[in-house]
Amino acid sequence: MEWTALIFEEITSVLVEAGEPSYRAKQLAEWIYGRAILDPAKMSNFSGALKDLLKSIGSFQALEPVKVQESEDGETWKFLWKLHDGALLESVLICSEKRRTVCVSSQVGCPAKCAFCASGKMGLKRNLTTGEIVEQVLKIQSFLMEKGEAVNHIVYMGMGEPLANFDAVVKSLRILTDPQLFGLSQRHITLSTVGLVEEIYKLSQESFKINLALSLHAPNQHIRKKIIPYARKYEFDELMKAIDDYHEVTKRDITYEYILIAGINDQVEHAEELAKLLQYRQCTVNLIPYNPVQGLNLEKPTRPDISAFRDVLDEYEIVHTCRYTKGDDIAAACGQLALQEA
Ligand code: SF4
Repeated sequence: MEWTALIFEEITSVLVEAGEPSYRAKQLAEWIYGRAILDPAKMSNFSGALKDLLKSIGSFQALEPVKVQESEDGETWKFLWKLHDGALLESVLICSEKRRTVCVSSQVGCPAKCAFCASGKMGLKRNLTTGEIVEQVLKIQSFLMEKGEAVNHIVYMGMGEPLANFDAVVKSLRILTDPQLFGLSQRHITLSTVGLVEEIYKLSQESFKINLALSLHAPNQHIRKKIIPYARKYEFDELMKAIDDYHEVTKRDITYEYILIAGINDQVEHAEELAKLLQYRQCTVNLIPYNPVQGLNLEKPTRPDISAFRDVLDEYEIVHTCRYTKGDDIAAACGQLALQEA
């Protein structure tokens, strides 16, 4: 059992069953989530017997730090962890003005195999457990606390397709947003998906109001299928209906992620088609010029093509941003997480 995989009520009942008073749950939650302490030896108001009991009931840590890399501009850190079965995992911290955003991974590898992505090349190795997802945030919280700072945004945009690991991801959301545990505002959490239709409907039925980002990357199914092999499973219209439903139910605006890849989806006709698709939808388009990934035969869009694309979105009054990715010198940018230990 992982302590970091339990909601508050579960922590309480596990402790009560072990013969401890229920107020211990609050004390333990304060250590784990308030102070990001995952070593019972450092829980100074607990007796030796209680520390031993806690260790005998469950594990506190599954992520062994392997390497931390800082980008040249000092704004992005990439953390490499080893898991108990030897699998490697990455998480990224992005600092921008007051935002301290953790980009968490939800799987080792990824089943979606997007054409532009280093993680996708590996295929899926396994799902992460709830505790392994939550611990990524806690470890980075501890790193930030040493500088007097704290995590204030989380994006599920690291390695893996979060909705393909639905139960573990949803439970991690409960833990990270519970005011008695990590307590992050739901509005400061974004989950990014390539678009698993049934799971998008399921997510809208959960009691969350988290932001949803759809990795659209193409204005039509024909191009999308080439870029995201996973997309073949779903009709384009069905996907857009599921996304509209999520917006209706949760009232959260949708972000459409769109990686611009030279000659594939970055031309004016693609922008026109995208603009027509989204013009009556309340949304933001996040354009991401493709970052070259070693071994992938795709090219960066040119600056003039990017500007022409943006001009079309402006004409249709589509709110959009163009994210020149942070951290690409340490391969921490979108689609570049690929687990290099050395
Ligand atoms: S971009 Fe995301 S969904 Fe696509 S293969 Fe990479 S990790 Fe998976």
